[in-house]
Amino acid sequence: MRIRIRNKKSFISAMILMFLLMIAVFRGNALFKGNTSSSQAVGQVSYSVTSKDKIKGKALDLSASGNVFLEENSHFRKYLIKLGESKDGYKGFKENNGSIFLDLKNPAEVSLNSGSFKESDKNLMLTDVDGKQTLVVEEAFKDNNFVFLDELNNSLIILTSKEAEPLKYTVVLDPGHGGVDPGASAYDKSFDEKEVTLKIQKLVRPELIFNGCRVFMSRETDKTIRIEDVVAFAEEKKADVFVSVHINFYDKSNVYSGIQTHYSKFSVKSSESKKLAEIVEKNAVKSDGWKNRGTTFASTEKSDLYVVHHTTMPGVLVECGFASNPADVNRLNDNNTLHNLSENISGGILEYLNSK
Ligand SMILES: [Zn+2]
Repeated sequence: MRIRIRNKKSFISAMILMFLLMIAVFRGNALFKGNTSSSQAVGQVSYSVTSKDKIKGKALDLSASGNVFLEENSHFRKYLIKLGESKDGYKGFKENNGSIFLDLKNPAEVSLNSGSFKESDKNLMLTDVDGKQTLVVEEAFKDNNFVFLDELNNSLIILTSKEAEPLKYTVVLDPGHGGVDPGASAYDKSFDEKEVTLKIQKLVRPELIFNGCRVFMSRETDKTIRIEDVVAFAEEKKADVFVSVHINFYDKSNVYSGIQTHYSKFSVKSSESKKLAEIVEKNAVKSDGWKNRGTTFASTEKSDLYVVHHTTMPGVLVECGFASNPADVNRLNDNNTLHNLSENISGGILEYLNSK
């Protein structure tokens, strides 16, 4: 970022802008570690956990109203912790000596949901760290453990690896627009495209990791990114699949609606991209009454499509509804719909990868 200082007033404005940006970065909700994406220590807790001994703690209670849920497959154990109403229920995590330490506002309120756990889980416990009760999640393997904050559900998603090499494929996710480029605005100004694309991709990511994909995101915060850099990023990460998410807009009519998936005829992987597009489109419209607008064979150099024209792996650009259409805008403002959509898009990506 370059800021030119012309006078005192703009210097002060620049400082305020910097300060706001720093807050935005600090509040960045993708707290993760491991070797996916550009590992950042955003919001990590400054616990002085230095013991080489395994942590000893108290097992969590099992209850019908418990807020911890478990799902597992051969790659990962996935814990979902619902944080309740409080927006500041989680401050961050620290990893040390095979354990994840979570800084929760109310750790005593964490209990296992008896519908999800049949017995106490030895990998979860409450312990005392620096005089503060802390939730500890034990790792089975030292790599590929993740903590994500799902802001839409106000819940934590914790993935602990069950095998040494759980990640088979590499996927690059591109949330369209960002920073100074808001993309389309909803007809009623309820959102900017850049916000919704980021929400969707942040939800696609843990689904893909859980199912064995190494995931990199072209951006994780509201930052400006050049489309040339998105392409370079996907190439550098040697992605098996590239998926960009956008929201459509047609200013002459509010009649157009639905999801459409573009692939490129210029791409060197055009026929694979077509297959990927068909599978992603079919899956994306599964829930919430989305209209299926099919796939298109993008042949123009329209700017958003640059990323599918120039990447060299199978790649698609999913237009997730129209910001100009009231019914689509209602869907995109609904957190459950965004969850379903993200699950369905990741389901499509996985169906494609597993068919190879
Ligand atoms: Zn767009």
